[in-house]
Amino acid sequence: AAKDGGRGRYHFYAPDLRIDAEERRQLEEELRDAVANGGLELYYQPVVHTVTEKITGFEALLRWNHPVQGFVSPSKFIPIAEDTGLIATIGEWALRTACQDLAQWPTNVRVAVNVSPLQFSNPALPSIVTNALAHAQVDPARLELEITESVFLNDDEGTEQMFRALKAIGVRLALDDFGTGYSSLGYLKRAPFDKIKIDQSFVRGATQPGSRNGAIIASIVSLAEALDMETTAEGVETLDELDLVRMLGCSHVQGYIYERPLSSQNAAARLSTGLIAIAQGPRSARAAR
Ligand code: C2E
Ligand code: MG
Ligand code: MG
Ligand code: MG
Repeated sequence: AAKDGGRGRYHFYAPDLRIDAEERRQLEEELRDAVANGGLELYYQPVVHTVTEKITGFEALLRWNHPVQGFVSPSKFIPIAEDTGLIATIGEWALRTACQDLAQWPTNVRVAVNVSPLQFSNPALPSIVTNALAHAQVDPARLELEITESVFLNDDEGTEQMFRALKAIGVRLALDDFGTGYSSLGYLKRAPFDKIKIDQSFVRGATQPGSRNGAIIASIVSLAEALDMETTAEGVETLDELDLVRMLGCSHVQGYIYERPLSSQNAAARLSTGLIAIAQGPRSARAAR
C-alpha cells in the first residue's frame, strides 16, 4: 500500500505478522549482517508542544533497510534482536548515534531513545548511557530514555537501582505505551518518570461517538499532572484527534498529523527552517496529505 499509515485501507499484500521458523532464521542472519555493516538507521519523529506548537524534541526510531525485503518494521525485528541478544549491540549503537545527532541540534531540543527491557536489566546500561553522552558531549538532560511497563514484570531491587542510577546521570525517563501492558499504578509513585506517553490505541477512535478513550486519556493526564509528569499523546493522525488531546490537556503530541519519522538530515532541516508543517497550521498540513 502506498501509505504505510493507512490502517485497513488497500492491503494488496496483507502483512503477515506470523513469521515461520525458516524466515526467522534468515532474518536473524541478515539482521546480524546489517548490525555489523551499517545497515540500520535511526529516523526521528518530532515531538511537538501542544500550546507553543514548537518541536521540543524527537523520538529516535530504528529503521532497517533490507536489501531484498526493503523496509523491515522494528516491531518485526526488535523481538528477534531481543531473542538473540543482538539488542545489546543495537541498543548501544542507537544510544550513541542518537547522542551524536543530538549534538548537531540546538540545545533546546531533546532526543528520546527506546530502551528494551533486556537493555534495562543489564547492569552496564548506566555506563553505556554515560559513555554515549560523553562521547557526543551533550547535556544528559537532553536525553530521554523510553521504557515500557514490562520492566516492572520483575519488579525487584535491581529495577529500583537501575532507575536511581539513570536518574543520577541526569537523563529524563519516559514511560512508553502507557496503559497497554502490566498496568499497576504502584510503580508510578516509585519510579521517577518525567513523562508518560499515552499509547496510540487510546488516541485511535477517541473522537468516535460513544468512545470511552477520551475519559481514559483525561484520567491519565490528571494522574500525570498530580505526579508532576508531562504527557505525550502518541499516534495523533487527524485534526479531530489533535483538538481532542489538546483539550484533554496533553502537554505534547507526536503523530502523523505533524510529521512522520524523518531521516537525521531531514530532521535537522526541519529545525533549521524552525518550523514544520505546523508553520501553516495543522489544518493545511492535513489538507496537503
Ligand atoms: P514506540 O516506541 O511506541 O514508537 C511509536 C511508534 O508509533 C513508531 O513506530 C512510530 O513510527 C509510530 N507512529 C508515530 N506516529 C504515528 C501515527 O500518527 N500513526 C501511526 N499509525 N503510527 C505512528 P515504529 O517506528 O514502527 O516503531 C515501533 C516500535 O518499535 C516502537 O514503538 C518501539 O517499541 C520499537 N522501537 C523502535 N526503535 C527502537 C529502538 O531503537 N530500540 C528499541 N528497543 N525499540 C525500538
Ligand atoms: Mg517509544
Ligand atoms: Mg509508544
Ligand atoms: Mg509502541
